[in-house]
Amino acid sequence: MVLDISKLINNEGSSIQISRDASFDRVEFNGQNISFTSPMHLEGDIKNIDGLLYMVLSCNAGYVSQCSRCLAPVESKLDFTIKEVFSKTELENENDDVIILNSNEIDLKEIAEQAFCCALPITDLCSEDCKGLCPVCGCNLNHETCSCETDDIDPRLAALKDFLK
Ligand SMILES: [Zn+2]
Ligand SMILES: [Zn+2]
Repeated sequence: MVLDISKLINNEGSSIQISRDASFDRVEFNGQNISFTSPMHLEGDIKNIDGLLYMVLSCNAGYVSQCSRCLAPVESKLDFTIKEVFSKTELENENDDVIILNSNEIDLKEIAEQAFCCALPITDLCSEDCKGLCPVCGCNLNHETCSCETDDIDPRLAALKDFLK
């Protein structure tokens, strides 16, 4: 999904409307294996203002990640905004926020993937009170109970536990 910006780059004041769907098979981020329930939708424009290209896109995607506690699949929706500034030439004042283009093309898909990953919540939970997996036997404590001893025992009970040894 490559955008040809050769006309835009040579016409100050011009703009391109963008309304596209980007399909991703799978994205890996932070140990999460993310699949998509719908194409990612990108809507907005790129404007040439004084020779710099300002891109603002409103995006949304439906995706499936894993619960941070019990690893069950979690279906979510994410709305996020992409704001980028591009320049065809190196700027006199170095500015990390400006992406220097080395061609007349912008890879929208790559930019969308990065922005999506940045916008992802740090944790997705299947439910607020997910009990997670037992750290010892790995059973799913939402569905099963086990009799493993875990170290994160209430300190008041820990004293009793030592006493009973
Ligand atoms: Zn869970
Ligand atoms: Zn267990």
